[in-house]
Amino acid sequence: MKINLCIRRGICFCFLTVLIFVLNGCSPICEVCAGSGTVACVDCSDGKTTCSECEGKGVLLCNICNGEGTKVVKIGNCSFCDGTGSVPISCSKCHGLGEYYDTRGSIGMWTMQRCDECSGSGRVETSCVICRGSGKETEKKECPDCKGTGQGAECAACNATGKVDCPKCSGTQKTVCSVCEGTGKVKK
Ligand SMILES: [Zn+2]
Ligand SMILES: [Zn+2]
Ligand SMILES: [Zn+2]
Ligand SMILES: [Zn+2]
Ligand SMILES: [Zn+2]
Ligand SMILES: [Zn+2]
Repeated sequence: MKINLCIRRGICFCFLTVLIFVLNGCSPICEVCAGSGTVACVDCSDGKTTCSECEGKGVLLCNICNGEGTKVVKIGNCSFCDGTGSVPISCSKCHGLGEYYDTRGSIGMWTMQRCDECSGSGRVETSCVICRGSGKETEKKECPDCKGTGQGAECAACNATGKVDCPKCSGTQKTVCSVCEGTGKVKK
């Protein structure tokens, strides 16, 4: 009885060894893809990627207003600076006097100096803050092309869906296993 069990165990062990040999030695399956030759695409989750043409919106930006919905139009000269683009302000060096006391000597020896900052005029020109120096008055108007929506034509690249087939897997969600090069078997 005891001997019989030993023999049985021996047979079982032999059978297992053969099985492992057959699996590993004769037809080694690629572990990475479990023998299928393909792996899940890492570039996408559903075979689709966001359309780069329209950034997934399905519509292109209005090419008149660049998607802003408004257009800046010049409507005339800036009323603040009379179209010159600059406005005179009081000179900070001489406080608008055009001259200042030279205080380098002792008190009583101070002399009036002509201000070189403003050439004695007491005023310096500074860029107009209303028109930012352009001299023109501008107004933002609703873009007539897209009626303020900022949207242009439907995106032809993705048929207005905002998604295109993943270029890596052509929408199949599978890519060829790089380990076994699609054979499903380990290379020898
Ligand atoms: Zn698109
Ligand atoms: Zn527009
Ligand atoms: Zn101005
Ligand atoms: Zn001055
Ligand atoms: Zn893909
Ligand atoms: Zn593989």
